Amino acid sequence: MREIIKAEPYKIKMVEPIKMNTREERERLIKEVGYNQFALKAEDIYIDLLTDSGTGAMSDYQWAGIMLGDESYAGSRNFYNLKETVKDLMGYDFMIPTHQGRGAENVLFQVLIKPGQYVLGNMHFDTTKAHIELKHGKAVNLVGDITYDTQADYPFKGNIDIDKLENFIEEKGRENIAFILVTVTCNSAGGQPVSMKNIRETREIADKYGIPMFLDAARFAENAYFIKKREKGYESKTIKEIVREMFSYSDGCTISAKKDGLVNIGGLIGLRDEGLYKKASQIVVAYEGFPTYGGLAGRDMEALARGLQEVVNFDYLESRIDQVEYLGQKLREAGIAICEPVGGHAVFVDVKKFLPHIPQEFFPAQALCVELYLEAGVRGVEIGTVLAGRDPETGENIYPELELLRLTIPRRVYTYRHMDVVAQALANIYERRDKVKGLRFTYEPPILRHFTARFEPVEV
Ligand SMILES: *Cc1c(COP(=O)(O)O)cnc(C)c1O
Repeated sequence: MREIIKAEPYKIKMVEPIKMNTREERERLIKEVGYNQFALKAEDIYIDLLTDSGTGAMSDYQWAGIMLGDESYAGSRNFYNLKETVKDLMGYDFMIPTHQGRGAENVLFQVLIKPGQYVLGNMHFDTTKAHIELKHGKAVNLVGDITYDTQADYPFKGNIDIDKLENFIEEKGRENIAFILVTVTCNSAGGQPVSMKNIRETREIADKYGIPMFLDAARFAENAYFIKKREKGYESKTIKEIVREMFSYSDGCTISAKKDGLVNIGGLIGLRDEGLYKKASQIVVAYEGFPTYGGLAGRDMEALARGLQEVVNFDYLESRIDQVEYLGQKLREAGIAICEPVGGHAVFVDVKKFLPHIPQEFFPAQALCVELYLEAGVRGVEIGTVLAGRDPETGENIYPELELLRLTIPRRVYTYRHMDVVAQALANIYERRDKVKGLRFTYEPPILRHFTARFEPVEV
């Protein structure tokens, strides 16, 4: 007898139609927007893998909570439900809602960073780095060297390198470090997890030098799942127990609830210390809102409280992570090189290996992104030369080590069959890969060029 195959641990109560347009239509549409998938209308996309941020599906339990929104300006009951959920899962006595993750970063970092100080982390997310720098701090990434090896099979590639961390503190002096921020899972490293041992050891260093330690916990539940699956001693612990232990080592956290909060908008700051909470709640009023709503409607806080309760469900997490891995496995079977191991929320195609005939100056990952849209109406995102931009001093293109196409999977939105479509489309392109052409700019904006640039195909 064979084991029963696993399927989604939910059934569908409401559907949102999506349409597969024709290849001719897609050719016209992508040409019209200058071969930039950011400029496409979402309704012209069949399967949208641009991001997992705010793109998830809420449950019936969350939607029911929406109807229980208490829209009082101060002291909404939904605020207290969220506060209690945060206390239960994360152990923090204090919680401030924010409109999303970067709102939390903006408020907390104003309290924590003195100009010139360093913020040490495994690998900071873009908006995190931006908010550190806006407060005149310096963001430092201290992951181990193995993280940069996309083929090395290591279970916790999100780990901070403890020796690098301690050496950095010794060299710069404790007073020059604002705090340590561990991102779980590590988004910028491809959704790679951080082990409990690593979080604990980071806490030991923080204690040794008297430095506060925070978590950037957008994907805390996915990280806990990987700990359960991969770390010795955690096999029989529940996700909730693992989550509680992870947070127990921290002084607080910032969270983008658009990921493991299972909501479309929202964020929060969690804090242990009342003094910090008081400072942050003064600042939040100016930027987000009164501390009991912080930029969210009462109904949003209720949906978030319920999302946080749901996301620690093991069956949900197993199906979530398995779906991402499933897409990775399909691509491997087609002979396509991907970053290994597959992380929690996305599969990254190694485009230097996929399109070796296109030099980086002709943006191979962007070209593959366009090709994937043409093939099956699938939207991915380029993480390569277009995104890297130009050196501000020389004005030359920066050619990053990695030229990647990211396929980011929204939570509870697509089925395994949708993953088959994506994999088949890429396999088809792979078979005729030598015919794929590069792109060149017809318009290049001075900053954040990936969002608004326009391209045309080149013969190479
Ligand atoms: C998404 C994200 C943020 C920023 O959150 P937003 O909700 O997009 O503002 C910060 N850190 C990490 C690790 C993230 O993934």
